Amino acid sequence: MMKLLKNAYIWQGDGFPQFRSEILIEHGRIVKLNAQESTSKPISAEVIDLNGAYVYPGFIDTHTHSFEGGLYSLGVDLSSAQSIEDACGLIESAYASSDLRDTLFAWQLDENTLKEKRFPSVKELDKICPDRPLIVRRIDGHSCIVNTAARMLLGTAIKPDELLRGMDNDSAVHFFHGKISPETILQAYHAASAIAAKGGFTGIHTMVGDAKNSIGHYALLNENLDKFGVEYTLYPQSFNLSAALEAGAKRIGGCILADGSIGSMTAALSETYLNSDSLGVLYQSDEFWEDFITSAHDNNMQVAVHCIGDRAISQINNIYYKLSQTKPKDLRHQLIHCELTDDTLLEEIAKSGAVPVMQPNFDLLWGGDEGFYSRKLGLERSRNMNRFGSFTRKGVRIAGGSDWYITALDAVMSILAAMNHHNPAERLTHAQAVNIYSYNAAWLSGDENRTGSVKEGYEANLTILNQPLNSDSLSSPETPDSQTPMVLITMRKGKVLYAKEG
Ligand SMILES: [Zn+2]
Ligand SMILES: [Zn+2]
Repeated sequence: MMKLLKNAYIWQGDGFPQFRSEILIEHGRIVKLNAQESTSKPISAEVIDLNGAYVYPGFIDTHTHSFEGGLYSLGVDLSSAQSIEDACGLIESAYASSDLRDTLFAWQLDENTLKEKRFPSVKELDKICPDRPLIVRRIDGHSCIVNTAARMLLGTAIKPDELLRGMDNDSAVHFFHGKISPETILQAYHAASAIAAKGGFTGIHTMVGDAKNSIGHYALLNENLDKFGVEYTLYPQSFNLSAALEAGAKRIGGCILADGSIGSMTAALSETYLNSDSLGVLYQSDEFWEDFITSAHDNNMQVAVHCIGDRAISQINNIYYKLSQTKPKDLRHQLIHCELTDDTLLEEIAKSGAVPVMQPNFDLLWGGDEGFYSRKLGLERSRNMNRFGSFTRKGVRIAGGSDWYITALDAVMSILAAMNHHNPAERLTHAQAVNIYSYNAAWLSGDENRTGSVKEGYEANLTILNQPLNSDSLSSPETPDSQTPMVLITMRKGKVLYAKEG
């Protein structure tokens, strides 16, 4: 059955035309774009009147951790709890309503917002969840508390303290992530797919694996790719190159860490943190990365590495540069986050041909002269962060991602964040910001000839908004109001994945 979308403004790569027109879709592809709306309707097609809506290419988020995002969306969100009683009530009703016997995950607990200013006790948790492992994670993910059923499974892997922090926290979280049944894993990805479609995405890149030696449930997910609404692009997030090759992957990495984060002062810097003598941490030696990246490159794998501070970005980019000179290949290696870059480093990245995969939401949440980055790094350096505008002017192709579950999986918010960077010099235009979530994102995975643009012959992957994403269309990307553009329809291969009700 053909589909005719009519009465809409259709994205032309750099903006919208003045007039409304139509898109004809057949077998999941765009077969005809009408320059001007025709009056004759010779064909039998399902007609969808878009009433003057705006049709963008289906947006693609190039960096997510969708398993965690999806899994926790199925769990218990404790962010609304104001007391221990509230928190326990939320957990208890989730326990009662689910027929799954897997670990129950509760998250977003902020003990400071609870009346009692403390975590629930193990005893309190055992009362509401006696026979199923329960893990309650703090809002920042860096500590957790588990019930006795979970504690029995963990055995001696953790200290007997009630609250688990540091290594104990990580061990507990990884242990229970590792025990999740295939059924629940797939359910988590279905949930993530629905959240992505609602957020305006038809495709998302997702990291699978423990960022150490395991590629996790990569094979399971790979076998089931055609079952999901959105298109997943998979990254075995691991140092295990042979496992990734064996699984048939074309790329490797993701948040495999060259350094840590600004918040924990582990992002590796060339100059010390403000009011500190710390330079942050390089997690691996130059030799380690050279071996790993070169082996992947030799096997025609695209590589992606998490690097936030300038010292870490430089460490990885130097290797990409060397390979571009000695063994040039069009593999589109990635610098994930690529946050702190002075002009010299920016120049070096332009030379290496690496692709910064960046998060506009990071600037939205933590940028600005009064923001968190400025408090950690000082004013001058904080203005050299997340330089979307500078990269674009240098001709460096950047791609956009949310790092969901770290920030929201929300195309409107992300694109507006890129257009409203705190530093005016780093703002992208409407067309450039759309591009980092469409053409550039498709190009990143080598799919720019079938998706990422609204063109005849391309897959009918479309995100339809009620109004265009002009920068004057809202006051703050963080607090949407009635003026904020809304996703009306998300469509992949001509099939509606999400439609706003009413
Ligand atoms: Zn990362
Ligand atoms: Zn990440």
